[in-house]
Amino acid sequence: MNATADQTIMSGAHQAPSPRGDGAAGASVIQIAGVTKVYTMGNNKVFALHGIDLTVKSGEMIAIMGSSGSGKSTLMNILGCLDAPTDGSYHLDGIRVDGMSRNQLADLRNHKLGFVFQGFNLLARTSALDNVELPLLYDREGRWKDGRTMRRMAEAALERVGLGERMDHHPSELSGGQQQRVAIARALVTEPTLLLADEPTGNLDSHTTVEVMALFQELNDAGITMLIVTHEPEVAQYTRRIVELRDGRVIRDHPVEGRRNAAADIKKMLETTPTEQEDAA
Ligand code: ADP
Ligand code: MG
Repeated sequence: MNATADQTIMSGAHQAPSPRGDGAAGASVIQIAGVTKVYTMGNNKVFALHGIDLTVKSGEMIAIMGSSGSGKSTLMNILGCLDAPTDGSYHLDGIRVDGMSRNQLADLRNHKLGFVFQGFNLLARTSALDNVELPLLYDREGRWKDGRTMRRMAEAALERVGLGERMDHHPSELSGGQQQRVAIARALVTEPTLLLADEPTGNLDSHTTVEVMALFQELNDAGITMLIVTHEPEVAQYTRRIVELRDGRVIRDHPVEGRRNAAADIKKMLETTPTEQEDAA
């Protein structure tokens, strides 16, 4: 690989990268200023983002909200180093991202980011364990050379999301909630600085949604910084801060008041299941 890219990433350019959960709370994981995205379609220009400023500190858990077309996915693609802004600056963990080449972006993604999608995006004919191991195998720098280490890391990630007993199952043998937990394990296995999730509960029923949010809250409590795109206010109530977009602009940015605890909500749901009420009657 390109030695310059490697040095840029390893040295953190301006300031040392802050490992998560090390008490470096307050360090900026994301810093964007004046980020604009213009899509040119023939003679038409679509302004998807209109000068976004956003700072995300280590340990935050943020919901990105807004109606369809407000720019949520465009913003996530830029923050996820999948797309470049037309204008504006982006620093990720102290590293300047705007202006990087495709290869540099790919390495940065692998080092710093974990992704969770609405549709899980698991390989169908592959076990949970093999799905989780993939990001380690595909690491372009070969950071995890030894197969036993990779296997152990994948197993630990699946145990962390409560699927230690299901490692050999294929996606079709798992429920939607379990598949999403495999996807979360896959996102965590490289120990990312930042977890980005685009509508992670969009395909899940309400009970499973709360279970996934309980896992996210647990991971956030352990120090993982996360951004979650959602259009569900119930999901946003489990985060710590809500950033609302409209027409490519931030129109609201505020802490969550009366934040809900997903583990407590699950407990309450279990206490009031109809079968138990019937049993009591
Ligand atoms: P959201 O995720 O909030 O629904 P998007 O970020 O997908 O919003 O889209 C924001 C705006 O940018 C919309 O007007 C959309 O039509 C436009 N847009 C998104 N992606 C493209 C693209 N690849 N080419 C042209 N226009 C796009
Ligand atoms: Mg979208």
